[in-house]
Amino acid sequence: MTGRTRKPSGPAAPRAADTPAPRRRVGLLGGTFDPIHYGHLRLAESLAAIFNFDELLFIPTYSPPHKDFDRVTSAYHRYAMTVLATLQMDIATVSMVEIFAPERPYTADTVATLRKAYGPDAHLFFMMGADSFVSLPKWERYETLLDSCHLIVMTRPKYEVGDLATLAEQYGVGRVIDLRGGRASQRAVTSNLEAGMHVFLTDLFAIDVSATDVRQAVSEGRSIARFVPPLVERYIHVYGLYSNGHHIQTDTTLDDQ
Ligand code: ATP
Repeated sequence: MTGRTRKPSGPAAPRAADTPAPRRRVGLLGGTFDPIHYGHLRLAESLAAIFNFDELLFIPTYSPPHKDFDRVTSAYHRYAMTVLATLQMDIATVSMVEIFAPERPYTADTVATLRKAYGPDAHLFFMMGADSFVSLPKWERYETLLDSCHLIVMTRPKYEVGDLATLAEQYGVGRVIDLRGGRASQRAVTSNLEAGMHVFLTDLFAIDVSATDVRQAVSEGRSIARFVPPLVERYIHVYGLYSNGHHIQTDTTLDDQ
């Protein structure tokens, strides 16, 4: 699925013969990543630590290989930048599951594909920012999504997720686990994992940056060093992304291959 083979992270502790193997924990972060930035990376890292992920999958969204689709940059560039940004993260890989889908998949479809790949025992956690979470009820088959993986919602500057009582009413009492206000810990996560799928609310780490800010800064000739890792910054400049003119030319070359 991701094409990358991982070494085991260390010697496994001996297990009694009757103790079941721990269930694999996989964090999923879907996004346009146009471009990927420190907001995405820091939130994935902090959630990986608290939720104890074995794997972290970045999933750039689909865009058809013709130009000007919603003005989103070619999937090739977005994929390449995401790989560059995550190469140093031990447990991270970038998935092509959406990029190579025959047509634009809904998130529920993507998670169903990943569920087949990882099997029924894996704990899949789909991560999203508060801005995505507030629009969740408008997503295609979002109830299916809620039944097929856990959601982790991260606060994001300028966006409110709503109060717990309203969310519990909306998604079901017992489904929403509030880990905000210093309640996030590995133990709190583990104690809630076995009974069904949950929506975890977190406020671990928030960086006030968006891909829109990055694109804007590039187009105005401002530095993006504090928004994206050095290799992504370099990629953006080499391929002329987000600064009018070069961008289109570079995309055409790639798209036509
Ligand atoms: P754009 O500005 O183009 O809308 P974006 O910065 O929101 O892009 P996306 O690729 O759309 O980036 O985001 C992917 C996921 O990451 C979404 O669920 C979004 O809510 C979340 N996210 C992005 N930036 C942050 C941030 N700074 N803090 C928390 N969550 C974020």
